[in-house]
Order: sequence, then C-alpha cells, then structure tokens
Amino acid sequence: DAKGERGRWATYSPDHDVNSVDRLQLIDDLRTALDADALGVAFQPQVRVADGRTVGVEALVRWRHPARGDVPPDVFVPLAENAGMIPRLTAFVLDVALAELARWAADGHEVRLAVNVAARQLSDLALPPLVADTLKRHGVPAENLVIEVTETGILSDPVRVDVVVRELRRLGVGIAVDDYGTGNASLSYLKRLDVDELKIDKTFVVDMARRPEDFIIVRSTVSMARELGLRVVAEGVEDAATSDALSAVGCDTVQGFFHGRPAPGPQVLERLRAEADA
Ligand code: C2E
Ligand code: CA
Ligand code: CA
Ligand code: CA
Repeated sequence: DAKGERGRWATYSPDHDVNSVDRLQLIDDLRTALDADALGVAFQPQVRVADGRTVGVEALVRWRHPARGDVPPDVFVPLAENAGMIPRLTAFVLDVALAELARWAADGHEVRLAVNVAARQLSDLALPPLVADTLKRHGVPAENLVIEVTETGILSDPVRVDVVVRELRRLGVGIAVDDYGTGNASLSYLKRLDVDELKIDKTFVVDMARRPEDFIIVRSTVSMARELGLRVVAEGVEDAATSDALSAVGCDTVQGFFHGRPAPGPQVLERLRAEADA
C-alpha cells in the first residue's frame, strides 16, 4: 500500500545504494517469515567455570531464507530494527525461548535464559509489560530471565532507558550489558543503572591466552566487575587455553564454541540431561 511504501523508502533513503532493492526484498521476506512464525531460535550454553555445568543459555534468533539459505542475525536484525519489526521479533524470540525453558524446567532442569534486546527497544516502555506477560504465560520465574542490552542502547535515551531498566529489575528480571568494552559506558555508570551482569566482548576474549594486552584488559575488567558485585560472563571462548585463563582471573561463567555452539532446544535438553546423569 502507498503508506507502507512511503514508510519504507523514507527509512531507507539515507543509505540508498545498489543494495537497497535487495534490502527491501529481504525486509519483505522477513516480514513474511515473522507472519508465518518461520524464524527459529538457537540456544548457546553458558557454562560455570567452577564445575563445567550449564547454568544458562543465550537465545539467538535464526532465519533460514527459502531461497538464500541461512541469513545471519548480524544482517537481518539491523534491517528489522530500521523497518520497525523489532518489537515483533523480540516477542517471537521471548515466546519461543521461554516455552523451551519451561519444557526443560518441567524435566527438572532449571537454567537461566538470556534474550537479546535491540538498542532502540531499551527505551520502549512497552518492553517491560511484554516481558512480564510472556513470563507469566509460560510460568517462568522472572529471576530466570536475563535481558542482554548493549552500551549503545543504554546511552541512547538515558532517561527512558532508566525507567525501562528499573521496571524490568522490579519484575525480578536480570540486566546484562552485552559486548562490554566496545561502547562508551563506564563500569561505574552501569553499576549506578543497576545492571547485574557484564558480558565481556569476544574481541577481548578470543586471543587473551596469547595476547598479554587482552589478558590484562580481561583480568582488570573481571576484578572491577566483581568488586562492584556484578556477575561476569566471557563470550567468544574458543579453546581450552582461553577457558583456563578465564578461570585463573576469576571469571564466573563462560560462553563460546569451546563449551558449546548455538543449538536447537531439544539438543540443549539432551545436554542438560547428560549433565544431570553424570
Ligand atoms: P551477540 O549477542 O554478541 O551474540 C553472540 C554471537 O557470537 C552469536 O552470533 C554467537 O553464535 C557468536 N559466538 C558464540 N560463541 C562464539 C565463539 O566462541 N567465537 C565466535 N567468533 N563467535 C561466537 P549470532 O548468533 O550470529 O548473532 C550475532 C548477533 O546478532 C548477536 O551478537 C546479537 O547482536 C544479534 N542477535 C542474535 N539474536 C538476536 C535476537 O534474538 N534479538 C536481537 N535483537 N539481536 C539478536
Ligand atoms: Ca548477546
Ligand atoms: Ca555479545
Ligand atoms: Ca554483537
């Protein structure tokens, strides 16, 4: 319709280039996929260093395009953000992921779930009620949900973000700062905002066992976060040496290909069962 067309072109005029037609097609296809609930959710384990147990999972949205195959979220999430589809995408991921978490809990396996929220949505006053409703519908305690946000999101609209974060915290939901160290927020600012978890960005983690500078950055971030009473998760752990280095600097929880790739829900349930039997 005319209004929709105008809206889309208005959104895309700033970066109108050779790819824009392609991008508009992708946005249409994404909208169709959302309408049909045709997206997927993968879960990546978060492992406690002390005993190697899976204590949480991060939900990561997946899209298998009928003609193009898998489209990475780094490509389509920004498109969804510009096209105003993020509220629906987040609602979809929350719903699917909390349904899965409830299934695992019914099987006796209680873990935390981390869900990504796009920067702009952190100042959306509709987010806390959406989260509260979805938790209630699936009977999952708010304490088992962590919302991952980036520093960009936190610094975008500080006043409204403050309201949204406060409301989520009041529900009992945890707040994690994703990709920590790549934005501009200081640890003390984040502490004041009452976030309770830091995820150290993988660019600092991947080579920390080989690069002394990275090791020092990660070590000092972990120790400062711990002194501030924040939980710390390191992401991008790709080998045993890195996992050991993180353990040595006192990082609680690790996430990365070494400990487990993002996988479909049933596969994670198998993993949780195997750990419980061990
Ligand atoms: P992120 O939130 O930082 O997610 C972690 C990304 O790192 C995931 O990529 C994951 O597969 C990848 N990863 C995990 N372990 C390793 C490792 O050991 N080494 C390396 N090199 N990478 C690792 P993925 O699934 O492609 O997601 C990319 C980004 O897309 C996410 O980065 C996040 O910003 C966004 N995203 C994914 N799912 C959602 C979602 O449901 N909602 C929103 N708003 N954004 C999402
Ligand atoms: Ca994340
Ligand atoms: Ca991250
Ligand atoms: Ca990222």
